[in-house]
Amino acid sequence: MNDHVLVINAGSSSLKYSLIDASSGEAAASGVVERIGEQESVHRHHGPEGEARTTQPIASHEDALRAAIDAFGKHGPSLDDLEIAAVGHRVVHGGARFSDPVLIDDDLIAAVTELVPLAPLHNPANVEGMQVARRLFPELPQVAVFDTAFHQTLPEEAYTYAVPREWLDEYGVRRYGFHGTSHAFVSAEAARLLGRGPAEVNLIVLHLGNGCSATAVRGGQSVDTSMGLTPLEGLVMGTRSGDLDPAVHAYLAREAGRSLDEIDHQLNFESGLKGLAGQNDFRELTRRQEAGDERAQLAFDVYCYRIKKYVGAYYAVLGTVDAIVFTAGVGQHSPAVRTASLTGLDALGIRIDAERNNASSDQARAVSADGSPVAVLVIPTNEEWEIARQAIALTA
Ligand code: ADP
Repeated sequence: MNDHVLVINAGSSSLKYSLIDASSGEAAASGVVERIGEQESVHRHHGPEGEARTTQPIASHEDALRAAIDAFGKHGPSLDDLEIAAVGHRVVHGGARFSDPVLIDDDLIAAVTELVPLAPLHNPANVEGMQVARRLFPELPQVAVFDTAFHQTLPEEAYTYAVPREWLDEYGVRRYGFHGTSHAFVSAEAARLLGRGPAEVNLIVLHLGNGCSATAVRGGQSVDTSMGLTPLEGLVMGTRSGDLDPAVHAYLAREAGRSLDEIDHQLNFESGLKGLAGQNDFRELTRRQEAGDERAQLAFDVYCYRIKKYVGAYYAVLGTVDAIVFTAGVGQHSPAVRTASLTGLDALGIRIDAERNNASSDQARAVSADGSPVAVLVIPTNEEWEIARQAIALTA
């Protein structure tokens, strides 16, 4: 049976793609075109021969996807031999409308376009990616997989903000949550690692990448999550502030004469670790922290303290917790973050084993101490595989 899915993640000036075997999760190839629209667009394609890198002007997402198809022809694997079964698209915002993957047609594209005001940075690029792929692969079924979908199970009290009712009714102001594909994948893997069914476990999942979010998962369903109307709320991130007093906007507008757009930009792109320590790469932050840099240390402390607050809050939401799960770049690779965010939680039954935690591995694993009532797990996320699986489930 042919289970190969071309997974596409279109950003405003980039297009990432991978060709995934939905049964095994194996990537036959992957690549990224960056700086679309500039003179020096960069295209990296990883195929059976390793990485091929080219720099040339690539004017549009359509040209980027054509470049990807050319790279499959030149560097393999051959798309004719592999026969793609479907194209799966990551779509960031599905609003309150989409709780499942959807076959892409004109109506779906119109619906995602209607949601652009909720995700002005992401949804236009996703729409472009879907349109381009439909033009270049007209014979293939195409599926939209929404970042918000997994969180559509949030109960009303968790997704409702305490604001005038009209904000929700007229403008859709509520918590939607993001990183849903990752939280869904990692939750299923965690249940497997614990040797139980997804419906039998309660989890707190911490996705710590460039963007960061925490989700409380009860019996396989998201019941609360830290990102909100947009991906700005919640944990401290690479360049985003996460939670802050909503009065900050009014204060800065009054006192510093900043426009709302400037403040929004600074909270999204100049805050978080970058705002606190001047840069957002966690590896670099760790090096500086280890060298005694005080700003790096404060950034680390603020980052981990915020995680701990969410762990406490979601513990209370769930009542009982089977595992705390770390995933994505920082979650998978920083033992220091795992330790600092869970330290002092023995009374909640959370105990890390230092040796297991410090051992580096790319495998899903437990790093909790033997007998710790709550397991602490490190599980590599794989959003592309999850998108491929969902695309196949809908089209096969
Ligand atoms: P994205 O959200 O873009 O998918 P990733 O999940 O790849 O991001 O996470 C990127 C973050 O992970 C960066 O801050 C990076 O520095 C951090 N990271 C990657 N490897 C390590 C490592 N070995 N130690 C600490 N941080 C790491």
